[in-house]
Amino acid sequence: MKIIMLGAPGAGKGTQAKLIAEKYRIPHISTGDIFRANIKNGTELGREAKKYMDQGLLVPDELTVKILLDRVSQEDCGNGYVLDGFPRTIPQAQVLEEALNKLGEKIDYAIDVDVPDENIVRRMSGRRACLKCGATYHLEHIPPKKEGVCDVCGSNLVLRDDDQPETVKNRLKVYHEQTQPLIDFYTKKGVLRTVDGTQDMQDVFRMITEILD
Ligand code: ADP
Ligand code: AMP
Repeated sequence: MKIIMLGAPGAGKGTQAKLIAEKYRIPHISTGDIFRANIKNGTELGREAKKYMDQGLLVPDELTVKILLDRVSQEDCGNGYVLDGFPRTIPQAQVLEEALNKLGEKIDYAIDVDVPDENIVRRMSGRRACLKCGATYHLEHIPPKKEGVCDVCGSNLVLRDDDQPETVKNRLKVYHEQTQPLIDFYTKKGVLRTVDGTQDMQDVFRMITEILD
């Protein structure tokens, strides 16, 4: 099963993608996590991506498409995957579609996690992330067992640089301009499904499993 998660930054794509990956035993692929791992490891790709991420801008399509196509061609993707944060532009969606077409494959579902802008800034300021394993928490809604410490790997949790309120506003603007058109794109392909992302995490997941099962 090949699934795309759509939705504004902070809508809960990553949270749901992790639950989907676990239940359906497919890899969770987050381009944001791949960039953050590269930044942490001081790679050339990380240095280039950081310039854009810190301003709330999208990393250019050439860079992003290449890392994504490399990742989905790996062996563990044979039974499908859940993409979180890709595609974010129409050209990215077109490249993915062409690559899948060549293999006689297609995206099965694009799930739009719908959360209004008013809720997003609050969600992002409470988000705490583990830069080591990619786990995500929320100070109020989904707190870690021990304050400031990742439940999964024990590393320190941080407020991401790009979750500062000013950057979040830019990211929302970029989302509406460049990513939201994908909702129409995947509606036309007949694969779009929308879930109400303002519900609590388990309720959102229940709605998603009803679609996928
Ligand atoms: P995205 O991957 O779309 O940027 P995340 O999955 O990281 O979003 O979620 C953004 C923040 O909101 C995180 O702090 C996360 O713990 C929290 N969150 C996710 N889903 C919900 C939910 N249904 N209700 C409340 N908070 C949530
Ligand atoms: P995320 O973790 O999905 O919120 O992504 C964090 C940041 O990484 C985004 O704000 C972008 O700067 C960059 N990024 C992640 N995925 C993409 C993508 N598909 N296209 C362009 N930039 C991306």
